[in-house]
Order: sequence, then C-alpha cells, then structure tokens
Amino acid sequence: MEPSLQSGALILRNVSLYFHIPFCEKKCIYCDFYSIEDQSSQSRFVDAICAEVDLKIRAYPELYGANVETIFFGGGTPSLLTPEELGKIISQIKKYFVIADDYEFTLECNPGTVSFEKLLAYRALGVNRLSFGVQSFHEDELLWLSRIHTADEARLAVAYAREAGFDNVNIDLMFSLPNQTKEKLQYSIEQALSLGTEHISAYNLTVEEGTPLNRMVKLQQVHELSVDDASVLFEYAQTTLIGSGYFQYEISNYARSAELKCKHNLVYWDGYKEYVSFGPSAHEFFNGERSWNISSLDSYLDRVHSGKLPRNNSEHPNESERRTEVLFCGLRSTGVDRNQFLNNFGEELGLHSEIKPLIAEGLLKVDADVIKLTSKGYRFCDAIVIRLMTPELISL
Ligand code: SF4
Repeated sequence: MEPSLQSGALILRNVSLYFHIPFCEKKCIYCDFYSIEDQSSQSRFVDAICAEVDLKIRAYPELYGANVETIFFGGGTPSLLTPEELGKIISQIKKYFVIADDYEFTLECNPGTVSFEKLLAYRALGVNRLSFGVQSFHEDELLWLSRIHTADEARLAVAYAREAGFDNVNIDLMFSLPNQTKEKLQYSIEQALSLGTEHISAYNLTVEEGTPLNRMVKLQQVHELSVDDASVLFEYAQTTLIGSGYFQYEISNYARSAELKCKHNLVYWDGYKEYVSFGPSAHEFFNGERSWNISSLDSYLDRVHSGKLPRNNSEHPNESERRTEVLFCGLRSTGVDRNQFLNNFGEELGLHSEIKPLIAEGLLKVDADVIKLTSKGYRFCDAIVIRLMTPELISL
C-alpha cells in the first residue's frame, strides 16, 4: 500500500485503526456484536464512516500523519463491502495517515459472502490478512449456530484466498457447543489443520446476555456444557494445535510462528498501545482515554451527518483500573513486562506474594523480563488475575 503522506512528514505517534462494519446477512444465535441484517443503508454508511475519519482528525489534529501499524476491519461482516466501498474508506485512511512499511491489514470475512474476484480486489487494495469466521466443519453445528455457509464453502473461501495471493489467513473455530463431543471437535480441528492456515483462533462458546442463545438457555431449550466438559475441550484443542506446530500466544489464539501472530489484537492486549476506531459501537483507547461510539446505525448516521463525532461515552481509567487492565491484557496474551509495570505502577510484580504459589501450581512462568501464564495457566486466566489484583506495597 502506497502511503499518501510523504516519508518526510512529521510522524507523531504509532497508532492502530479499527473499522466496525455493522451488517450481517443473518444474525448468528450466539453473537452480541452490534450488527443488523438490513443492508439498505450500506452505501450511506460507507460515506458516514469516511466522514467520521474527517471529524476525528479535526477533533484530534495530533492524529494527522500518525504511523499506522495495523488496520482491522471487523464487524458485523466486512466482507459484505464491495471493493469500491472498501477502496473509498482506504483512500480516506491514506489521506491522513502514514502506513507503516510492515503494516498488517486484516479483514474479517464470512465464507458465505466471498468470491475469488472479491478477494483478489481486496488484496489489490492492500489487505494482507484475512480472518474467516468458520466456527465448525459440521453441517449440523453450522446450521444450529445460524451460520450462512457450509463447510465446503469455508474450504473454498480459504482456497480463493490462497489463489488471490493471501499468505496470512486465520480461521475461527468454536468449541463447547451444547452436546459437542471431543470427536466432533476433533473433526473440525483436523479439517482446519488440513487447510494449513497461518493462524487458528479457537473460542469457547459463551452465552451472552440478550442473544437468542441466551433466551434458549433461559427457557431450558438448550443446556450449556458443564465447566468441566468445556475445560476438557479447551485442553484438547490446545494440545492438538500445539502438537500440530502452532504456538499459543493468547487464551484462544494460535499462530504458526511469532511473525504470524495477529499484530492488531496484540495492540489491544498490550494494555498500553493506542488504537483509534470508527463505526457504530467501536471502542478506542487514545490519549489515556477509553471511549466508544453509539451502537444504533440510524443514530450513528444522524450524528455523523450533522457533523458530530458519534461518541456514546468515555472514561479515564484510574491507576487501579489501569493496573488491572494491564495485568489482564498481559496475562491473557504474551505476558506482563516487569519493567514497564514497575515504571507505570511503581510495583515490582515479581515480588507479589501470590507469584511463588502460582509458579508452584504450574500456572505462571517468571523470568527477568516477563511474567506469563503457562499452557495450564491460560485455562485459569481470570482467577489468576483476581489473585494478583490487589497491589502490594513492597519496599524495593
Ligand atoms: S456473522 Fe459474525 S458478526 Fe455477524 S452475527 Fe454472525 S458472528 Fe455476529
């Protein structure tokens, strides 16, 4: 991708960009991300998200000329965008930002919405990583989840991606579906492995408030897997993926090599890095402030068209909240940097009284630089963060 700003421009800071595309052909029963099935305002939305970029640069002139390391189009279903629509948004990005030479640009795709020609056009526009929401290779599970694609369409989508020149592809899989056996999960993982993608995300199905799945559980039409059964499937997925040459760098994420980790998600999990976001319901962290946009597409369009940022709310986390965020983000992924933690919170985390017991329980690894979870520890991340949540005043 050619940056539109010249290399002589003053680069003020590194930043990552997130764009939320709020349309889906059909809502999946488990999904609580903001999206709607009515796509009639897609073209107005594309104009609005471009206008939001203008508004944000006006509100934060310090963003102008920032060095963009990663771009992520999520949703919703970004692969519903036509190449022309995507190109429009990219032109807007290039108008204001410098794109890093080694940028990562991920676009989430629903396998039921792609063609070879579309992926080829995305690649030509500078997208260099695709993330396919596959979830399962069993037709009955796909149907139950309300996915719009078949297993064969998922295989074909990955083949199209390869043909179109993508050498960095992710597949999302889901486990802990009601009644899911180890054998069923095994088949889906084997099918994913046979496609040889650079990255696999394996997520535990969670029942989110307000979703159709949540209602089904409340009406006892569906019974969630027990914690023990879900834990067996997590461990199975973890052992199989690691045994097949992937390495785990986050609770749910596995890459073939360190270079193939999702850089954009690492920005979120870094806990300190800044990201700026656009589109309904999008969250950002910039200038020490967390803020999020309104969710309703109609309100979003109205707000942007009347020249106002579509922000819903914002907060400045206090030091204690920041400490918990940094702990949670670091531990769930590549670890907490001890020096950075000391500099930010005045605390040598390695001396916390819970560290030694956690090491003895096989949940934590500590070296001179980083404190991180073991493979076993990833299963108990929340409980471990709780044990480390209270800061200890230790005289150094
Ligand atoms: S396609 Fe993705 S974003 Fe859309 S409803 Fe399904 S899970 Fe949610």
